Amino acid sequence: MRTLPCPSRDEAQAHLLRAIETYVHAGISKGYAASQAEIDNVIAIYDAYDAGLGVPSEALKGGELLQQLRDAIYSGYDFTQTGGKLASIRSTLMAGVELCPICGIAPPRQLDHHLPRSDYRPLAVYSRNLVPLCQECNQSKSKSAADEPAQQFFHPYLENIPDALFLRAGVAIEGGGLIATFDIDPAAPIQPLVRERLSFVLQRLKLNERYAREINIYLTSQATAVRMVFGSAGADGVRGYLLAQADVESRQFHLNHWRPVMLRALAAHAGFCNGEFAAVLPA
Ligand SMILES: [Zn+2]
Repeated sequence: MRTLPCPSRDEAQAHLLRAIETYVHAGISKGYAASQAEIDNVIAIYDAYDAGLGVPSEALKGGELLQQLRDAIYSGYDFTQTGGKLASIRSTLMAGVELCPICGIAPPRQLDHHLPRSDYRPLAVYSRNLVPLCQECNQSKSKSAADEPAQQFFHPYLENIPDALFLRAGVAIEGGGLIATFDIDPAAPIQPLVRERLSFVLQRLKLNERYAREINIYLTSQATAVRMVFGSAGADGVRGYLLAQADVESRQFHLNHWRPVMLRALAAHAGFCNGEFAAVLPA
């Protein structure tokens, strides 16, 4: 889990106006001709969203706005699809995000409404409520925002996910296979609520199961290097190699990415470094 640069608000009002502008489709008028006062009310909801760091609240649902306005904003989100008049929202948010900020496994392919579109209609086209996620994370994330603080997802734009190392991996070699289990390190210097929320995300998005699949693929790519360094420098060589590779992956991704976390756990596994890797790495 990692933070992403917070999108600019410069175009928020322009996007909103474009999303709801009126037009006629197949003889039916669509969109909504909003007054400036109504636009100001939506922008005030954006302000409240930013100030509250995207935490769900009744006020953000815009109950005082006319239903037609809320529905028009909701439908306006469809224009962010490729080829739509608001496609630039999508391309701008996706640009430069190589991997899903939650799992770090796959590239983001979808925009997730941090606060769900169906309940929080005024925020349907607000860039800061739209987070690039991979398909699997987006689909596993609930379609409703939890009231329970320990079950609230981190906001990759508005919250600071701790800088400290908090993801932990335990590795065991059993029955010719490597079993890695990830959790949130109880000793990590983070607030108890932050710990609970991180654990919730790990569980909710089934990251353990998903990392297990990735680990096998990744370790295959390291098999030759581990073997060679063991041949020339023994267990210490393997340990040094794994730690050096962990530093590379950490810089390339981030501190709490599953790859450096797993490499450091393997470096701490005396048996793996001392030749047991042969049982789990492909020949
Ligand atoms: Zn993901």
